[in-house]
Amino acid sequence: MKIIMLGAPGAGKGTQAKMIADKYSVPHVSTGDIFRANIKNGTELGMEAKKYMDQGLLVPDELTVKILLDRVAQDDCKNGYVLDGFPRTIPQAEVLDKALSELGEKIDFAIDVNVPDENIINRMSGRRACLACGATYHIEHVPPTQEGICDRCGKELVLRDDDKPETVKNRLEIYHEQTQPLIDFYTEKGVLKTVDGTVDMKEVFNAIVEILGE
Ligand code: ADP
Ligand code: AMP
Repeated sequence: MKIIMLGAPGAGKGTQAKMIADKYSVPHVSTGDIFRANIKNGTELGMEAKKYMDQGLLVPDELTVKILLDRVAQDDCKNGYVLDGFPRTIPQAEVLDKALSELGEKIDFAIDVNVPDENIINRMSGRRACLACGATYHIEHVPPTQEGICDRCGKELVLRDDDKPETVKNRLEIYHEQTQPLIDFYTEKGVLKTVDGTVDMKEVFNAIVEILGE
């Protein structure tokens, strides 16, 4: 099963992708997580990506497409995956589509987690991330047991630089300009499903399970 998560930054793509990965035993592939891991390890790719990420801009397609295609070519992706944060532009979607069709494969579901812009700023400013293990929390909706500390690995939680309100505004504009057109792209392919992302995360997940099947 190959799934794409669509939605604005902070809509809850990562939260739902992790739950999908657990239930359906497919890897959760997040281009944002791959970039952040590279930044943490000080790689050349990380240093290049950081220039764009810190400003809320998209990392150029050539770079992003390459890391994504390398990742999904790995063995654990043989039986499917859930993509979180990729594609974010029409050219990225076209490259993925072409790479899959050359293998006789296709995306089964593109799930749009729909959250209006008004809710996004609150979601992002309250998000706390563990840069060590990738877990995410929300200070109101999903607080960690001990403030500022990751439940899963005990490391410190941070407000991501790109989750600060001025950067979030940029990211939302870019989302509307470059990523939202993917909704039409996947509607035309007959795989788009929309869920209401404003409700409790368990309810969002129930709606997704209805779509994917038990
Ligand atoms: P994305 O991957 O789309 O950027 P996240 O999954 O990281 O978004 O969610 C953004 C923030 O909102 C996180 O702090 C997360 O804990 C919180 N969140 C996710 N889903 C919900 C929900 N349904 N209701 C309230 N808060 C949510
Ligand atoms: P995310 O963790 O998905 O919110 O991504 C964080 C940041 O990484 C984005 O704001 C972009 O700068 C960059 N990024 C992640 N995925 C992509 C992508 N598919 N295309 C371009 N940039 C990306």
